[in-house]
Amino acid sequence: MKKIVIASGKGGVGKSMLSSSMAMLFAKEQKTVACDCDVDASNLGLWLGVQKYDSTHKISTSEKATISQDACLKCGKCASTCVFEAIEKKNENYYISPFSCEGCGACELVCPANAITLTRVKNGAIKTKKTPYNFILISGELFPGETGSGDVVDRTREEAEKYECETMILDSAAGIGCPVIASVRGCDYALLITEPSPASFSDLKRVLEIVNHFNVDYGIVINQWELNPELTDIISKWAGERLLGKISYDKKVVDSITKLKPVLESDSKVVKELESIFKNLKQRI
Ligand code: SF4
Ligand code: SF4
Repeated sequence: MKKIVIASGKGGVGKSMLSSSMAMLFAKEQKTVACDCDVDASNLGLWLGVQKYDSTHKISTSEKATISQDACLKCGKCASTCVFEAIEKKNENYYISPFSCEGCGACELVCPANAITLTRVKNGAIKTKKTPYNFILISGELFPGETGSGDVVDRTREEAEKYECETMILDSAAGIGCPVIASVRGCDYALLITEPSPASFSDLKRVLEIVNHFNVDYGIVINQWELNPELTDIISKWAGERLLGKISYDKKVVDSITKLKPVLESDSKVVKELESIFKNLKQRI
């Protein structure tokens, strides 16, 4: 199975629009599965008009610590050990904030009274939808206030692997954190999208460091290129042969998401540009 991750560094630059379009185009030719790995803000389904999933199952990829006040000796070793500052002292007693606890288990190890217990929590969900575009969408979700985004991405990918497709499209989270690392790791190709703004170009270079770290081949796409033709020119020269295409600014793209309709089903001029990027991408993988 060829795994193609779509990443950007900066959020809101067209990553999910590109992911949904590539998934739809691949699915016309081969067995495809799409993964929404942006587990903190999964929205790939919206670009495909998905409002309801066929199935949802909760998953547990993290633990939380709790203190038995009866057993606690009030020594404070746990609080001074926790690097996440999740343990607070109130009125001589120590309490763990479930929102700050990362479940690392360090406090349990240092507690001289065995007063700390780690318990598994349901911290996310995997949602599945058979789309009308001939592919399955697997969407990972991290529940609000929970930790373990990278693990939820891993579980989302594992679920997608079960479908034994020829192509997997992974819509990564923005940034360079755990969910991005978990999305890029083990992929065959990274399609990196940017807008012609200094912030977006800078974030693109940061995510490229992750892509290079995992030795993943990549191509570049510039979205809304007319917004800054001078910077588009600079990015194009920087990308060289890795530039797979440019996407125009078109209000019809926004209209599509507002109507929960895939861009490829609109009469926007970007449809031809997305098809051209798809053609170029196929030649590279
Ligand atoms: S499990 Fe780790 S993060 Fe949670 S309270 Fe203990 S030391 Fe802190
Ligand atoms: S390390 Fe154990 S005994 Fe000491 S304050 Fe923390 S929970 Fe209580």
